[in-house]
Amino acid sequence: MTYGLISDIHGNLEAFDAVLEALDSVDAFLCLGDIIGYGADPALCLEKLRSLPGLLCVAGNHDLAAVGRYDISWFNPFARAAVEWTAEQLSDEQTSYLRNLPLTAHVEGAILVHGSLPDEMGYVTSPQEARACFDAMPGDTAFIGHTHVAEYYQIPRGTMPPTQVSLWSGGAVDLRDDLRYIINPGAVGQPRDGNPAASFGIWDVEARTVEIKRVPYDVEKAQAKIGSAGLPDYLSERLTVGR
Ligand code: ZN
Repeated sequence: MTYGLISDIHGNLEAFDAVLEALDSVDAFLCLGDIIGYGADPALCLEKLRSLPGLLCVAGNHDLAAVGRYDISWFNPFARAAVEWTAEQLSDEQTSYLRNLPLTAHVEGAILVHGSLPDEMGYVTSPQEARACFDAMPGDTAFIGHTHVAEYYQIPRGTMPPTQVSLWSGGAVDLRDDLRYIINPGAVGQPRDGNPAASFGIWDVEARTVEIKRVPYDVEKAQAKIGSAGLPDYLSERLTVGR
């Protein structure tokens, strides 16, 4: 069984299409949230996602913000503008789909969550933050998104601190029996680890590997659409540098 791992699509159809082409042979898909927000094609990305085989998807903060399930007073002005514009693009049926997304999901012994545990919308950006998530995890593996940074953390059983490993240029994780893992496949639609290529993963359950890959996409087309939609320039500019 193989799963495509996707997160933080953020309404970027060009990036999403490039990733789906690279994932055309997986058996099923796991989505770690933030389908929409920032990009110019929220409705199309959501429909495309929902058509994927065996999809299991958890809610991200932007998914919930667009349907009034998340307080946006802490969002920066760019994110807030995107939330308001995005909410207007969704049909009632899409709004209700997003409103009903779960905060966590379980598959093959792993847990899916957008941000962290026990706070589903918290961030894992350091070994200290990873430690809190490891302590709250029911099993040995968590797949997370939210930071838009492809990386993983591993920790031996016991009291050792976690190790943080970057996957900004891709790479494979061999899942060992004696370690626990928090794995972030990076962002499809708005990478922030300095690599502008769309990021995603492939989890091969039997082979016990997670491979993170990067695929280039038509950044200029996605940027032009963000401009035509009247969304803040910053949201388009950052796609060039992946920050
Ligand atoms: Zn996000």
